[in-house]
Order: sequence, then structure tokens, then C-alpha cells
Amino acid sequence: MIDITVKNLTKKFGDFTALKGLNMTFPAGMVTCLLGPSGCGKTTLMRIIAGLETPTTGEVYFGDKVVNRLSTRQRNIGMVFQYPVVYRGINVRQNIELPLTEDRSLTKAERDRRIDEVLDILEMRDAADKDITELDNGTRQKVAVARQVARQPNIILFDEPITNVDINSKLQLKRALKELFTRLKQTVIYVTHDQTEAMTLADQIALMNEGVITQMNSPRELYDEPNDVFAGFFLGNPGMNFYENIVVKEGKVSCALFPTPVEVASAHVNHPTVTLGIRPEYVRITASQTPLAVRARIVSKAIVVGGQYLVGLKAGEIVAKAKVPSSAGVALDVGSEVWVEFPIEHVRVFSHDGAQAGV
Ligand code: ATP
Repeated sequence: MIDITVKNLTKKFGDFTALKGLNMTFPAGMVTCLLGPSGCGKTTLMRIIAGLETPTTGEVYFGDKVVNRLSTRQRNIGMVFQYPVVYRGINVRQNIELPLTEDRSLTKAERDRRIDEVLDILEMRDAADKDITELDNGTRQKVAVARQVARQPNIILFDEPITNVDINSKLQLKRALKELFTRLKQTVIYVTHDQTEAMTLADQIALMNEGVITQMNSPRELYDEPNDVFAGFFLGNPGMNFYENIVVKEGKVSCALFPTPVEVASAHVNHPTVTLGIRPEYVRITASQTPLAVRARIVSKAIVVGGQYLVGLKAGEIVAKAKVPSSAGVALDVGSEVWVEFPIEHVRVFSHDGAQAGV
């Protein structure tokens, strides 16, 4: 297994710069998700690593070797696309075995061992002798995955492999991929615009925006400690509540989120204004007054995934979204007055340019 590294990578299409000087390493044996909105450059980066696209400047390393001049085949990579690539007229086992037979160094016993291993992990033993045409779309995608995994290439690139699978198979396929990644520890780059998929599958997430990697961290760190407003907004469902142009005076901010002025970290003391952010699940609604609570009115209420309520609040001039368990023990009637806490330990402070520099 080897690390994959890109250095000073740019890609221009005419006057448009799709990738703006990327430097990053995809560590061996880990799953790195490229996550970001449509058009941010995920697929372009993956295609350059695969050798399907030439960078305008910069290098791609496989281990310590520059591979810019190597063809896709010479790079020895596996690829799984949105639509399953499978061969009709042969069964599942033969589909998986096909690329293995090209490797003369593999004995029949080793081929069978690898095929059985991946069939077991993907819970597909029963389908081994079935013809591809007998399978649903989700199972076909599993076969496409199995074929790449069994080859044990330098790296496997997944380009939104769940997107076009029918809704019933999505969850099952996601679970199967998780199991596969956990058990086999192959080096994987996984492109997705779906944060839940990235949070579930990734060891680390490279968050992309407009041709730049804005942050690379474990899913938990990225969620809890967004480097900038974009990460706070893009992750979470819904994303963070933001409050812009909050004036810093004598090292403190005072606004409708807090009953008394709150100190900001030294990094922000000299900023005239900052942006504050807090995730909706950290906004606390209480039935009675507490030292940290402010008065607010409930302006909307909806049930969201997990049986929680998404509550819209208005406190003075500010609005906030709060995610509250249905068992919170507070009446959440629209129009009613409640007490709300914005716990300071969960409030993130961003400087004027949108970057976070401590709390
Ligand atoms: P999506 O999820 O929509 O595929 P993405 O993050 O994968 O988005 P890319 O497909 O890498 O984004 O595209 C990045 C930008 O580069 C987009 O603005 C796209 O229009 C542009 N682009 C990609 N390929 C080409 C090309 N061959 N010619 C011109 N522009 C391109």
C-alpha cells in the first residue's frame, strides 16, 4: 500500500481554473472522501489522479514516484463509477475473477481466496453463480465494487457509487462498503456531494469549495471544529446558525444570544466585528430561566429525521434554528415564549474573512 500525494496541482479549462494549487496526501490504507458542492472540482481531481486528465501544473505521486506521465493502466488503480460496470453473459464469480486472470502471478487458489473473501464481506455468496441479468442495480454495483477490490490495486477511486442505485439498495450498499473498507483497509478516494455518506464512510474528509481544499480532518473534527463559515454551513442538516457583524468591544461580544457580554479568545480581541456560529443541536430550549438563557419566541416547528423537532426561534432581532429531541420535556407550541441557551462552549467565532481562530 502506498500514499497518494498531489503537489501544487492546478487545472485550467480555458480561462476557468477548476483546481487552484492543491497540496494533499491520501494516506495508505485509509478512506478519504472528497466532499463538496457540485462544480467544486472533485471529479477533476479524481480524474487527474486516475490519469484520465492532465494537470495544468503540479505533480501526482504514488508513493515517492511521480506518475504524471504514466497511463491509467500503468498506475494500477481501481475505479467504481455511478453506474455499475459489469459484464453480461457471465456470472457474478466470473465477473469478479476477470481482471484477476490477467495477473499471471496469481494462482487459482489465491484468486478463489480473494473472490470468496469479498463475496463474504459483501454477503453475496448466494449470488455467486447468478447471471448478471438476474441482479438488481444495487447488487450489480456490489459486483463492480467486488471486482475492483479483489484486484488489490494501488488505490480504488469511487465516483458517487451510490447516487444512481435505487433507494432500497442505497442503505444496504453503504453498509456493505463500510464493512469492506473497515475489513480490508485499502487506500480509497471516495467522491461524494452527500455529507451523510462521507460522515459514514470516511476516515478523513477533504472538504472542497471552488477548486480549493478548505479543510481536511476526521468527520467528527470537521463537524465540531469547522475552519471557516463554509464548513459550518455545508455540514449539518441544517448547517450552523450564523450571526454576522457582531461587534467586539473590550474583548467581549454582546448580542441577543447571551444575557450578559461574553469574552472572545485573544485571537479575536482586535477584530472590530466577528461572525458567531452554533449548530442547531447545541441550542438548548429550557422551560424555566437559567443564568445563561435568553427569552425567545417559537416561530416554527417541524419533525425531522430521528423524530427530533426542528424549531425556529426569534430572540430579539435574531433568529435561530434549534434541533430538539421529542423527549425534551418542554412544550414547543408555535407562538409560545421559551428560554433558550446558546452554550458558549459550542459557539464558534469566525473572523471577518470567515475563518475560525479559536473561541
Ligand atoms: P459534480 O459533483 O457536479 O460533478 P465536481 O465537484 O465533481 O461537480 P468537476 O466535475 O470536477 O466538479 O468540475 C469542476 C469545474 O470544472 C466545473 O465548473 C466544471 O464545469 C468545470 N469542468 C470540468 N470539466 C471540464 C471540461 N472538460 N471543460 C470545461 N470545464 C470543465
